[in-house]
Amino acid sequence: MGLRIDIQAIVANWRALASRAPTARTAAVVKADGYGLGAERVATALYQAGARDFFVALAKEGRALRPHLPEDAMINVLSGHMPGEDLTGLVPVLNSPEQFFRDRTMRPGQPFALQLDSGMNRLGMEAAEWTAIRSEALEAGPDFIMSHLACADEPDHPANAAQLAAFREMTAGCNVPLSLSATGGILLGADYHFDIVRPGVGLYGGMPFAQARQVVRLSLPVIQTREVHVGEFVGYGSTWIAGDTCRVATVAAGYADGILRALSSSGACLYADGVACPIVGRVSMDLVTADVSALSDVPAELDLICDQQPIDRVADFAGTIGYEILTALRQRYERTYL
Ligand SMILES: *Cc1c(COP(=O)(O)O)cnc(C)c1O
Repeated sequence: MGLRIDIQAIVANWRALASRAPTARTAAVVKADGYGLGAERVATALYQAGARDFFVALAKEGRALRPHLPEDAMINVLSGHMPGEDLTGLVPVLNSPEQFFRDRTMRPGQPFALQLDSGMNRLGMEAAEWTAIRSEALEAGPDFIMSHLACADEPDHPANAAQLAAFREMTAGCNVPLSLSATGGILLGADYHFDIVRPGVGLYGGMPFAQARQVVRLSLPVIQTREVHVGEFVGYGSTWIAGDTCRVATVAAGYADGILRALSSSGACLYADGVACPIVGRVSMDLVTADVSALSDVPAELDLICDQQPIDRVADFAGTIGYEILTALRQRYERTYL
């Protein structure tokens, strides 16, 4: 029933990614409430498996997680030191000279990390900014220096090698632990691993980690089924019209639960024990309709996310990525952790 989250699969994925980068420490990215699956559950399980480095996007997420992890777990905050933020027990990843000076003024002696921009132009210090503060920043003793790859899910993309070269050049002689790769970068090979790797989506069963174990199963209760005759329509806007008499089931979840409206008549299916039942008509706020004519018996619930239709397949139908499917799963589902 509802959203089943296989914590042991997350642990297995973490171990599998760690074994791809045996010379590095493998962190765990648990931002956005562990990609929607529950940061506290994920982080405590991965701590038990040996993870000691965790990444969140916001200090608020870090403060929520801090009481659930032992003291030797590092919780790194990717947005760095924002004005007025309480960073007690957290490690801000400082993204600009402004953040660096703010942090060193407010938190002298406290742990921090640095982010450099190696080409993505999103977060991190640019080469000139880094050159200007480099010696002062290194003297302050950062825990590590990191950057982030923009195109690591495309192994042949020229930006990968360019960012690697830029990161190497900016960090040459720094003598500080280095970190460049998320899930995609881990799979690019040893050149990209450095000292700490930061997998996120691969832990949760998402591409580009094709060998990942699936983590999520989403089962939706059937409220009602009905016969729909040739020429009758189903759902808002009358966008789907029965070409044959068929049976349609209505399940209790919709776009308010993160089942993207783009899945309407997209080819995506609900599954009953491996049998595909195409979604027909529009996904509405709390309801989805599917053609269940292929079933002799309609079960009490139908699966949207399952072995036959993992998150990246759902994402393809919706024109998005597995990350968005995961993080869209909202709190309204009953959750079971396996
Ligand atoms: C989100 C994020 C990660 C994790 O990326 P995945 O592609 O999910 O593995 C790692 N590092 C940074 C800076 C991130 O923003």
